[in-house]
Amino acid sequence: MPTGKKIENTEKADVLVVGAGHAGCEAALAAARLGCETVLFTVSVDSIAMMPCNPNIGGTSKGHLVREVDALGGEMGRNIDKSYIQSKMLNESKGPAVHSLRAQADKRDYSQKMRETLEKTEHLRIRQAEVAKILVEDGKIIGAETVSGKKYLAPAVILCTGTYLNARCVYGEVSEETGPNGLKRATHLSDSLRENGLKLLRFKTGTPARIDGRTVDLSKMEEQKGDETITPFSFENKENEIKKQQISCYLTYTNENTHRIIRDNIDRSPLYSGAIRGTGPRYCPSIEDKVMKFPDKDRHQLFIEPEGLYTHELYISGMSSSLPEDVQEAMIRTVPGLEQAVIVRNAYAIMYDCLDPMQLKASLECKFIRGLFSAGQSNGSSGYEEAAAQGLIAGINAARMVHGQEAVVLKRSEAYIGVLIDDLVTKENTEPYRMMTSRAEYRLLLRQDNADLRLTELGHEIGLISEERYRKLLAKKDAIAAEIRRTEHTVIAPMENVQALLSSHFSTPLKSGITLAELIRRPELGYQILAPVDPERPELSEDICEQVEISLKYEGYIARQAAQVEHFLKLERRRIPAELDYNDVGSLRIEARQKLEKFRPETLGQASRIAGVSPADVAVLQVYLEKHKNVSRET
Ligand SMILES: Cc1cc2nc3c(=O)[nH]c(=O)nc-3n(C[C@H](O)[C@H](O)[C@H](O)COP(=O)(O)OP(=O)(O)OC[C@H]3O[C@@H](n4cnc5c(N)ncnc54)[C@H](O)[C@@H]3O)c2cc1C
Repeated sequence: MPTGKKIENTEKADVLVVGAGHAGCEAALAAARLGCETVLFTVSVDSIAMMPCNPNIGGTSKGHLVREVDALGGEMGRNIDKSYIQSKMLNESKGPAVHSLRAQADKRDYSQKMRETLEKTEHLRIRQAEVAKILVEDGKIIGAETVSGKKYLAPAVILCTGTYLNARCVYGEVSEETGPNGLKRATHLSDSLRENGLKLLRFKTGTPARIDGRTVDLSKMEEQKGDETITPFSFENKENEIKKQQISCYLTYTNENTHRIIRDNIDRSPLYSGAIRGTGPRYCPSIEDKVMKFPDKDRHQLFIEPEGLYTHELYISGMSSSLPEDVQEAMIRTVPGLEQAVIVRNAYAIMYDCLDPMQLKASLECKFIRGLFSAGQSNGSSGYEEAAAQGLIAGINAARMVHGQEAVVLKRSEAYIGVLIDDLVTKENTEPYRMMTSRAEYRLLLRQDNADLRLTELGHEIGLISEERYRKLLAKKDAIAAEIRRTEHTVIAPMENVQALLSSHFSTPLKSGITLAELIRRPELGYQILAPVDPERPELSEDICEQVEISLKYEGYIARQAAQVEHFLKLERRRIPAELDYNDVGSLRIEARQKLEKFRPETLGQASRIAGVSPADVAVLQVYLEKHKNVSRET
């Protein structure tokens, strides 16, 4: 007899991850690998780890993030090593602090490989469903509810909603209430977040058109080949294990005709007509912004990048736009090599809701809803790599919360991930946050080549790095230290072959014996160059040789930066009681008092980075905490 009564359909889990983009995948894998029953939600299972914009992973500073994710036991590095179609080490002519790996990805393969890994992971299950509500009781998360009304109960929920919350896509007069690539947007969750006291921001970003490669004349462009030697993103991989045939990208330029078409139609640009509401990424400007803001520039670089081996589609890097379709076609056809180009997908801008990350602790947990975490574009960042880094930390900390363990917080002196998260939760973000090497004050210590030496031990402590990998790391550390010691104690005598090698490198001949280390430190020489005059040299892998050379050549700079870190840590270690009443702190300036009250920093170091809090205010606070020592303690 039909009752029509709703059947109770509630499920229990430990961690719910809302979104299977680059943040959600890392968060779900970390939580499940740490033993938590994890449910990963997405509006479309076919869009797992989708790359809605540039077809590459890494690049300046972003390569650092990927290697740090890998060093801690995350997945992005391994996944791109499986699905790359071109690999390049950028900035090799500059110092090691800015060397950055970038790999072109086969987008479909990248998504597929990530899905395979997710589906093979114990304690992890994927659910295609739109999460409509978070469920909160007494300031604590108890779960989430989908649009169907089904409740999933769990003590931890991680928001990784990317560019989908109330998303709207615009080009010219066309405005569509969809997520990226025409996928369904998420329309309910924003209201639920607001109802629970969360402040949302409205951000935007844009992407260029995709064109059919069969309609492009690549002979009119400069070929950009991949590197001969492949450096894997994952420290677990060796070059010979991932080496493969690479395909090229191509460089071309806009010109005065392109710029004239854009200027003549700028009134039809939603960006300039005001149809677009939302703040865009300053460091990924649209082509119309570049032409209008830099009128003296007679050309702008465009990189033509393949979307994958499975398609003719090409991505026009540097030409993101929201101009009308007819203008897009006209401007593209002014570019050398694109005269006959046919558009496959229009360029467009997307506006979306995201959280104000100042509501989060450095652990990425919400300050006022226990168990609610957030990661990725939903924190106002921009980029696959920034998302993956936050996802990993949020996943680790959600699992540690479930297991009653302390949260993991990476400091600015330990990792780019630490810089990223600290900037997001400490600084007022008025636009999508993109990582850059200039943001990392200790970048000579935070190189991409030593991410494993800095972080893999912690990854092992957390439980995401295997015993075997940990032992390999310890062996690597020992080998580096032993080789540095050997070079410091190996004396090279002024023999004929030594003098010959020195003069072939325009290096001052020796008058007497000198240590190998001293020779390596000479700018015109290096560890590999001196191999012919160093017969006792042990057989060592390339990455160990690289560490020996960098440690010797940059010794002074590294020591200086390490001393700065010591000073930085003094403030960073001084915790501020969460319940401190700033009205009690006598001679604090009003602006500082208001900012500290609003932001409630966790440490003196964080307080020192809040806009409007001066070093004098920090000193006042430090004295107050000293006087009231029993209420504040060291970390
Ligand atoms: C048009 C466009 C242009 C871009 N341009 C740039 C650029 O120029 N430079 C740059 O660095 N980055 C750019 N990006 C950003 C880049 O794509 C993102 O940074 C990256 O994808 C963020 O990863 P994420 O995991 O945070 O979110 P996403 O990859 O967006 O993934 C979000 C996930 O959440 C799911 N989801 C959302 N809401 C719900 C819900 N309520 N219930 C269930 N599932 C939900 C979605 O299904 C999806 O799986 C662009 C993105 C777009 C769309």
